[in-house]
Amino acid sequence: MATPRVPGPEDERQLELPCGATIDPHEIDLGMREFTCPGGPDSDTDSCGETHAVVTDVHPPSRFFPESLVTILQETIDTEDDFGEFGTPHLMGVVLEEFPEQVVTHDASDDGAVGYSMVWVTDFDARRLHEIIVELVVELMEHAISHAEDDTAVGQFESQMLEFDVSEFVEQYRQQRDFESEHDRAL
Ligand SMILES: [Zn+2]
Repeated sequence: MATPRVPGPEDERQLELPCGATIDPHEIDLGMREFTCPGGPDSDTDSCGETHAVVTDVHPPSRFFPESLVTILQETIDTEDDFGEFGTPHLMGVVLEEFPEQVVTHDASDDGAVGYSMVWVTDFDARRLHEIIVELVVELMEHAISHAEDDTAVGQFESQMLEFDVSEFVEQYRQQRDFESEHDRAL
């Protein structure tokens, strides 16, 4: 897993995003799942006007997929770090490995002023991130299943996955989980 960059004292209050804009990590609250760079002709030129996904370690993996699948992943994937059982930090670690240029992290574990210890901000929006995470989890599952001795289980999983539509799943999941109440808003 990638190690997050630890910011020095000077840049502690500035998190530079992949688009070049900077935000103050203290403005990120736990309900925030994405925000839109102000953008536009009147704003700071570093700001891109696009929407970026925001994830903190406090968000459960069930933000992205059902608790039943979270349990399976926790049972099948061994983690060897300080974050404990498989969870959001591991998911974001995989996203960071796949998209190193499009994800920034901020370590706030020594900062009592915020309610999270890690935050990740991506160049893409929360819906795109959701699709990426579901695709990565399908790959993780495929990898785990391919080590199973049981050929029937492998066959069943593969045929289920052929019919699995990531974008459809994400659409439905986001509706079911009522994202309108999640305080998505601009900084
Ligand atoms: Zn931006």
